[in-house]
Amino acid sequence: MQLGGSCARGNIGAKQENGRSCIICGRPSQSPVITVLDQILCLKCMETISKIDSTCENYTTVMERLKILLKPVLVRELKMNDLDKG
Ligand SMILES: [Zn+2]
Repeated sequence: MQLGGSCARGNIGAKQENGRSCIICGRPSQSPVITVLDQILCLKCMETISKIDSTCENYTTVMERLKILLKPVLVRELKMNDLDKG
């Protein structure tokens, strides 16, 4: 069984750039992006997410990024302030 075709193997890093950068890969937005919950998501990462499954080596990292993306919304909408306590 070969992995690698369907799983995007990008360099997922946690770089924080000035300005708008993709919440998943941390790259500045150069290519087409979408804005999700006031965060930038690049096409590459959207593609990754659309194909990802739990066998992808990036799965954990991407899921952690998505949690970071969703957390402020949950806090605001559901008043789940205790999420901040981790
Ligand atoms: Zn990205």
